[in-house]
Amino acid sequence: MTSESVLRIAVVLPDLLGTYGDRGNAIVLQRRLEWRGIPSEIVTILSASDPVPDSCDIYLLGGGEDVAQQAAVRFLSRGRGLQRAAHAGVPVLGICGGLQVLGTRFRTGDGAQHDGIGLVDVVSEPGHGRAIGEVTADSTLAGVGTLTGFENHLGRTELADGARPLGHVRHGIGNGYGEVEGVVSGHIVCTYLHGPILARNPALTDTILEWAVGGALAELPEFPELTALRAERTRAVGSGRA
Ligand code: GLN
Repeated sequence: MTSESVLRIAVVLPDLLGTYGDRGNAIVLQRRLEWRGIPSEIVTILSASDPVPDSCDIYLLGGGEDVAQQAAVRFLSRGRGLQRAAHAGVPVLGICGGLQVLGTRFRTGDGAQHDGIGLVDVVSEPGHGRAIGEVTADSTLAGVGTLTGFENHLGRTELADGARPLGHVRHGIGNGYGEVEGVVSGHIVCTYLHGPILARNPALTDTILEWAVGGALAELPEFPELTALRAERTRAVGSGRA
């Protein structure tokens, strides 16, 4: 956390990568900081803005269409502020189209291949039909537990040898290769899960916040009814009842 103790949450290109409501992740981060008395601001970086600054404390990229992804790569290649911040260990969350943009390369539904910005070692190819529906996956991140979310994508994503998935799929498609979901590299977390994912998975939210502030955060109250409801939904989805 840098500038005068106001944590800066960058929403990167919501006019391009904002199709699925992933901006909600910024609001969730801000609210959980506020509940702990930590001030924050949301910095919105539009495609008509100056290049991405490297001075933010968390970067969020949402999902979008193939054409939007190509425009996002062009924008992010100017100035390279996101790349500098990520290499310095600042947390980055990329969802779906955002995941593909952060990867090495992706092929779009029209068959054309495009470079990503190469922050994570994955390659995406169109699958046979869209993957749409609820996903549950056991996270590889310590203390995060089972993730839930909603996927809607054509691309299937293969991890390079040695790349670490975000989760192991229990229900749903996820990356579409090897029954894994997303990819994690240092403090870069990429996933196919919309939701927004941080609203549905507070333990992941707090993990990202702890990376951003560089230490442990105060526990927030748990809501047993909500935990039970989410567990029940997970079981129902897993058994095909939901
Ligand atoms: N255009 C990408 C795909 O279909 C990403 C879609 C999304 O972000 N939901 O694979």
